[in-house]
Amino acid sequence: MDSNEARRGLQAAGRYMLDNDLAWGNAGNISARLDADRYLITASGTRLGELGNEDFIECSFERTLAKDRKPSKETPMHRAIYQQRPEIVAVLHASPFYSTLVACADIQLSSELFVEDMYYLERVEHVNYLHPGSPALGEAVRAKARHANILFLDNHGVLVYDTSIQEALMGLQTLEMVCRMTITARSAGLDLRALPASIVTDFLENSGYRPRREWPI
Ligand SMILES: [Zn+2]
Repeated sequence: MDSNEARRGLQAAGRYMLDNDLAWGNAGNISARLDADRYLITASGTRLGELGNEDFIECSFERTLAKDRKPSKETPMHRAIYQQRPEIVAVLHASPFYSTLVACADIQLSSELFVEDMYYLERVEHVNYLHPGSPALGEAVRAKARHANILFLDNHGVLVYDTSIQEALMGLQTLEMVCRMTITARSAGLDLRALPASIVTDFLENSGYRPRREWPI
């Protein structure tokens, strides 16, 4: 997509995230792919709910294409995903309440609860805690990027990426809902009823909800 379209899409996504409790304060950073080796990412110090036209930095895989402002310091993990997954168009990093609670606890999520859960949470991976923005975190994300479209960054937040900004938002919102449902059920002493694995597989392969994902690994 061209940079105007990417900027407008990311501004709308940032507002949506704030309005729907998918981000808070000045935490989080989001990006969109421009072409094979370039992407647009939020600048350092920006707030996702109020992204202005100057709050984005164009980067190539080799360098930052801006003179005055810096891209988010968490750029290495965005870059790692675009490099590992050529089909990925948008990367969202945030720390919504329930997802971050799960990232700070040893809680197993089910991908067998409801329609969007089956599709968006088919694969979820964890990345051990490493300091935000560190090259080590970028490399840890690189190692997991091909295994899933949702990564928990333990004791930090989540990273959700997909083939469009809308699909990445849907993945993030579904993740937050599953985390909230799981925690709420635990608090209330409810047992969630998981669908049998055979039905989940049949849903993914034959229901026509979405084309079957082709995982690189
Ligand atoms: Zn972070």
